[in-house]
Amino acid sequence: MDPKIRTTNVDFYYDSVQALRHVTLDIREHQITALIGPSGCGKSTFLRSLNRMNDTIHGTRLTGEVLLDGTDIYANGVDVVQLRKRVGMVFQQPNPFPKSIYENVAFGPRVLGESRRDRLEQMVEDSLKAAGLWDEVKGDLRKSGVALSGGQQQRLCIARALAVEPEVILMDEPCSALDPLSTLKIEELMQELKREYTIVIVTHNMQQAARASDWTGFFLLGELIEYGVTAELFSRPQDKRTEDYITGRFG
Ligand code: ADP
Repeated sequence: MDPKIRTTNVDFYYDSVQALRHVTLDIREHQITALIGPSGCGKSTFLRSLNRMNDTIHGTRLTGEVLLDGTDIYANGVDVVQLRKRVGMVFQQPNPFPKSIYENVAFGPRVLGESRRDRLEQMVEDSLKAAGLWDEVKGDLRKSGVALSGGQQQRLCIARALAVEPEVILMDEPCSALDPLSTLKIEELMQELKREYTIVIVTHNMQQAARASDWTGFFLLGELIEYGVTAELFSRPQDKRTEDYITGRFG
């Protein structure tokens, strides 16, 4: 099967600082791909290159190719709003808008032009259900999103991302601000979501990558050192640097 996303020889620069070097990687559909590696090795930069979020940072430059379903997302004329609808993102710090739970989830569909009330209500309900939050909030959708607990806020952000019906969800350390129980909930949720979506997660938590992902890529100093099936990468790493990292010799 063709990959959902294929990157070929991706180099990335912040002005003159090179943050990614020749990153070539296939991301499979309906799988969870984890990106691990020490802080500053380019994981987030790579993740953000998959829906052109880096474009918003002045002085950045990417060479190489990023294909989504075989089409170059950096080609001239690509509609970036449409791209980010297809490839959504969830951030490290839960960042709900200071609006009601309902309005947080309805936001994306509204921006994309949906105004029918019954359609919006259905989308809000479906997205909150898919994010595993509906039962906790269905009685109080007018409550402010920022009044929820941290774990609930992150699931609200996932619901907000799902509401525009993306194909890929990028998660940048989505659990690093959460307690262990909320983290477990998000990991369980990811297993549900992968049936419908393709998930790419950056995590500094190796146990999380080992538990929750199907594929793992290990980054070091902007390079993808090793990439493979998670169980194999953790049990039989091919590269000494991967082995040193996963056994805790540095990081
Ligand atoms: P990681 O996610 O693995 O911690 P990052 O992708 O955040 O790594 O960072 C990779 C490199 O790019 C680091 O050297 C970092 O300092 C640099 N970098 C990240 N974001 C920016 C930015 N907005 N401007 C300049 N340099 C950046």
